[in-house]
Amino acid sequence: MLPTTLPQPTSILSAEAASDGRAVASVLVIYTGGTVGMEYNKRGELVPMKFEQIRKKMPELRQLRMNLSVLSLPEAIDSSNVVPADWLLLARLIGENYAHYDGFVVLHGTDTMAYSAAALSYLLENLGKPVIFTGAQVPVGRIRTDARRNLITALDIAAARHPVAGTVRVPEVAVFFNDLLIRGNRAKKVESEQYDAFRSENYPPLARAGIEVAFNDKQMLLLPGGPLRVHQRLDDRVVILKLFPGITERVVRTMLEIDDLRGCVLETYGSGNAPTAPWFLQCLREAHGRGVQLLNVSQCEEGRVIQGQYETSAHFRDLGIIGGDDITTEAAITKLMFVLGLKRSPAETARLLSHDLRGEITLV
Ligand code: ASP
Repeated sequence: MLPTTLPQPTSILSAEAASDGRAVASVLVIYTGGTVGMEYNKRGELVPMKFEQIRKKMPELRQLRMNLSVLSLPEAIDSSNVVPADWLLLARLIGENYAHYDGFVVLHGTDTMAYSAAALSYLLENLGKPVIFTGAQVPVGRIRTDARRNLITALDIAAARHPVAGTVRVPEVAVFFNDLLIRGNRAKKVESEQYDAFRSENYPPLARAGIEVAFNDKQMLLLPGGPLRVHQRLDDRVVILKLFPGITERVVRTMLEIDDLRGCVLETYGSGNAPTAPWFLQCLREAHGRGVQLLNVSQCEEGRVIQGQYETSAHFRDLGIIGGDDITTEAAITKLMFVLGLKRSPAETARLLSHDLRGEITLV
């Protein structure tokens, strides 16, 4: 259930207008939890702390030349506990505060950050301002933390405008981590020990942070033509079915026959290939017949699904299985939740699933 009263932002920094008369940017930081703001409990386990404590540990925030407000979710969480209701709440918070800020930074655990960023990219239709997810591999209180660098650069990116046109530089949901800015629905967590935890799959990074932040303007989404629309429905009656050699009929059948199932991300091999065993095709045919939307996503990290390239995927098109192109599993499962939540007809749902909604796929 979403709360009826939303948490409110608190201003923590008001910058003087620049001497050249340029307005200073206003950025809202939304703190959800994650390692970035964790500390050790008595048992030696990492647990989330309140944002107030991070602020004390990052006094350098006061040096930023921007207006900064923060807002914490009612309870800071490890992102392994994230559920779709959290995405709806984040979308609503951004919607409610949209007019008052130039950009948003979401402090989030790395474990499910790619899912959350992808979900937000769908929920925030016609987004015209930056929503930058970031976090850390090492908690802010530790000497070798990456939290300071990640947060400060994410804030700079959230405040960035094009130097010539003066327009918003990143009108997207994106993940900033270590030195890369990545489209949110192209991000994948690939590391749990090194600082470069995220990688951009099948799409160039939107920016690279060195001494300066070098933006890749040509790769950004275009500014929207209409006002922001915040969606408030996701359908969680979905599964991810990952194929492996030896998967049995019982496993496939059990998953696809889950009561009320509406959608399935089918993680296939290579360019979208799967077994041709009659029982397997029959399970898919029956699921499709029950109205389950099947989205074919490759287990490969690069490349794309091309149904019909091999005999082992040729039958998929006849079965009504939708090719996921070069989408990530994270972007696919959240896209299924979002599109099913729109409650359109089966044909329209299938059309939207094969469509590029927010830059999550490159159609060829
Ligand atoms: N378990 C943590 C989380 O995702 C890991 C992190 O923040 O890096 O919340």
